[in-house]
Amino acid sequence: MTCADNRLLTAAEALPPRLRAAITPEERAYIAAIEGRGGLPFAATPYFASLAEPDQADPIRRQFFPDPREELPDPFALEDPLGEARYLAAPRLVHQYRDRALLLAGGRCAGYCRHCFRRVWVGVPRPFVTDAELDPIIAYLAAHREIREVLVSGGDPLTASDGVLERLFRRLREAAVPGGGVPISLRVCTRVPVTDPRRLTGAAIGLFSRYKPLRMAVHINHPRELAPEARRALAACVAAGIPVLVQTVLLQGVNDDAAILADLFRECRGLGLTPYYLFQLDLAPGTAHFRTALKRGLSLHRELRNLLGADCPVYAVDLPGGGGKIRLDENSIAGEGEEPEGPVYYLKGPDGSLWAYPRR
Ligand SMILES: *Cc1c(COP(=O)(O)O)cnc(C)c1O
Ligand code: SF4
Repeated sequence: MTCADNRLLTAAEALPPRLRAAITPEERAYIAAIEGRGGLPFAATPYFASLAEPDQADPIRRQFFPDPREELPDPFALEDPLGEARYLAAPRLVHQYRDRALLLAGGRCAGYCRHCFRRVWVGVPRPFVTDAELDPIIAYLAAHREIREVLVSGGDPLTASDGVLERLFRRLREAAVPGGGVPISLRVCTRVPVTDPRRLTGAAIGLFSRYKPLRMAVHINHPRELAPEARRALAACVAAGIPVLVQTVLLQGVNDDAAILADLFRECRGLGLTPYYLFQLDLAPGTAHFRTALKRGLSLHRELRNLLGADCPVYAVDLPGGGGKIRLDENSIAGEGEEPEGPVYYLKGPDGSLWAYPRR
C-alpha cells in the first residue's frame, strides 16, 4: 500500500495544462513565497485537481489552490483556534468532552485545504503517531474509562498504510476495554474519500469492518466533490455497514448558498451518509476570505432546515480559544460589541460564559 503523499501534486507546473494556463502572476508569486518560507503547503492529489475548473471562482480550485488573500492581515486569527492546547491530556491527545477524546494521529493530508483550521499543526511535516508516542496515550485511556470514543484525526489518518492503521486501532481497542465490556468506539476523521477515493480499497474497508464499532466522519464541502469515484468509495463503506457522518465547513465563495448546500446534503442522504455538522469557520490564520458572516450562516441554516428537515445537519461553531462546540441558532447570540480586534458578537458557551466571534 503506497502512501497518498507519494503522488501529491506540489507544484503549479505539475497541474493539468488547462489549470496551469489560468494561474495568475500573483498566485505564482504567492506559491513561490510559501515554498520559500514555509506555511500550509500547496498540495493536491492529481485526482482532486482533475475535478477543478480553471476559473478562480471554481469551488474545487478555491479549496486547494493557494490564494494571495491568505496573506491579508486578520486581527482575529488564532494559531490554535479551537484552543486544543488547553485540553491536551498527553501529547497528541485532546480530551475536552467527558466521554470522547481526539487523537492527532496523522501527520499529513492527501492535499491541503486552504481553509484548514489546523493549518499550523498540519503545515509542519510530522510523522504519523509512533508506538512510543502512543504509550502515554494508551495509559491515559486506560485510566479514563469514561472515554467511550476516540476520534482518530488530524492530519488525515488515511494517509497512513493499512498496516499502520491496524496497529493503531488494535492498540486503542486493547487499551480501553471499558467496565461494561462494550469496546471503545473509533471515529476516523478524514477527507480522503473525496480527495483520494482510490485509497478506500476493499482491504481498507475490510480493516474498518474488523474494528467495528467504527464510523467515519468525512469532510465534504461541495456536491462536485461527490464525483463518481468518491460516490463508489463512500457507497462501499456504507454497504460494509460502516456509518458515515458528513462534516461540512461553510465557506464563502464555495458553498455559502442554500441551493448548493441542499444539493450536497440530499446527495449525501442518497448515498446513505448522515449530514452531521455544518461548521461556521474557525479563526485560523490566512482564512478570513472564506469567512461567511454569522448572521448569513444563520439565515442559510434556517432555509436548509425548511428544505431538508431531518437531513439538515447541525450548524455549529467551536468557540474561539477553547470554549467548545456549540450549536448555533438565533438564541446563540447574546449581544454584540467592540473588541480591540474589531466588531464581534458574544456567543453563549455551554456554561453560560460569553465568547467573542467576529461579526464579519
Ligand atoms: C468535535 C470534537 C469532538 C467530538 O464531538 P461530537 O460532538 O461528538 O462530534 C471531540 N473532541 C474534540 C476535541 C472535538 O473538537
Ligand atoms: S484534510 Fe482536514 S486537516 Fe487536512 S488540510 Fe484539509 S481540513 Fe486540514
